[in-house]
Amino acid sequence: MAMLLDLAQIRAREHIDREYPAGAFDRSEDEFVIAGPVALAFDVEREGSRIRLVGHVRGSLELPCSRCVEPMAWPVDAAFDLLYLPMSANAGEGEREVDTEDLGAAFYEGDTIDLAQLVREQFYLALPMKPLCRSDCQGLCPECGANLNLAPCGCDHRWVDPRMAALRQLLPKKSSEH
Ligand SMILES: [Zn+2]
Ligand SMILES: [Zn+2]
Repeated sequence: MAMLLDLAQIRAREHIDREYPAGAFDRSEDEFVIAGPVALAFDVEREGSRIRLVGHVRGSLELPCSRCVEPMAWPVDAAFDLLYLPMSANAGEGEREVDTEDLGAAFYEGDTIDLAQLVREQFYLALPMKPLCRSDCQGLCPECGANLNLAPCGCDHRWVDPRMAALRQLLPKKSSEH
């Protein structure tokens, strides 16, 4: 399935609604896995060679928890408002004035915009800084590597100050131990 937007087909304004199966994306070196179909809906506004895409992308990602590295689901519903300029506008310095809106613009080559790349960029923007499978994820044991969400591993996780350990020997035992 071609994931290119053919600009030759776009007159002044079009609405595009597409759904891509997860397998349509090249999943080689991303930090996430696209776990389900991706819905892409947007308006295309054309003004000469300036193309504006306004819409949203919905999908379901899977990425590793930052503490326990188990895969976790990360649903995405991201809105975007993107301006595309032809690649030639980037290369040529020339007399053309760059207005502030153009500074954040993306560029297209030929007569197509790569929608797969648009989707991947939106997914990257939607990723959490520190993904957690749950807010109280216990992570992995630093000693044996066991996933502490599943079961305690038996390692001693208390850090005991050696000076305190020596002191504890000198203290009287608690009454419950009599
Ligand atoms: Zn976790
Ligand atoms: Zn352990």
